Amino acid sequence: MIDGLRPIDSLKPGMVAVVGVPSDENSSFLRGAAKGPARIRQFLHAGSMNMWTEGGLELSEEDRFRDLGDLKLPEGIAAIRRIEAATAALLERGVKVLALGGDHSITYPIIRAYAAKYDDLTILQLDAHPDLYDEYAGSRYSHACPFARVMEENLVRRLVQVGIRATNEHLREQAERFGLEIIEMRSWRAEPTLNLEGPLYLSMDMDVFDPSVAPGVSHHEPGGPGAREVLALIHRIDVPIVGADLVEFNPARDPTGITAALAAKLYKEIAARMLGA
Ligand code: MN
Ligand code: MN
Repeated sequence: MIDGLRPIDSLKPGMVAVVGVPSDENSSFLRGAAKGPARIRQFLHAGSMNMWTEGGLELSEEDRFRDLGDLKLPEGIAAIRRIEAATAALLERGVKVLALGGDHSITYPIIRAYAAKYDDLTILQLDAHPDLYDEYAGSRYSHACPFARVMEENLVRRLVQVGIRATNEHLREQAERFGLEIIEMRSWRAEPTLNLEGPLYLSMDMDVFDPSVAPGVSHHEPGGPGAREVLALIHRIDVPIVGADLVEFNPARDPTGITAALAAKLYKEIAARMLGA
């Protein structure tokens, strides 16, 4: 049993398991992302959208797909340990985890669990921000820091960042020090070449999108890609995706529901790619 989740005994290797991680206490500017998982599910089941993916998979009738509900989390550093332990327990069953945030701080403990299983992981991070601060607002676990922790601990072989358009001198130094591969938004071209290798972990920050298509995020950073450009990039991934997260959706900033719609769509399309469909 994992606190808050449906029983995991019937999970089989190769399945995709969705897990809500309702954590926003490490957000630096606004809270609200903790309500993301509930809002995405509500949208998925409200009747306006069906569970078919663009590639022809019907997720609600797919045996290899389970939504396990939301993790129950304590506060503070204990939450980080709980996320890592829950991810490790799921990986032990051989499943691929699709985590719904929550803010981007959840990715560090998730990757710690993945690194214990995979020694040659590549992360593809879609984000307006590098999230590489050594420390932010007095915290090393801020949502502005997860990839600094991941790289310091040598948890992955490669980190590829796409969509970056809010960086600074410190963050550029960090990126250089860690040897990251970065496609900044200012040099984005149609169908960017990524040369990805598997096993791949996809970390999808909703603020990578232009705020005009996804206003429901805590940090608006204009000049991002549209929905189709990102979906096309995800559809083109041709290596095995062993894990993913969908983070930084903040329902408090989404009065029209347009960002919930996009997050729900990504939930389906990412799950399908994880299933190889
Ligand atoms: Mn981020
Ligand atoms: Mn971001």
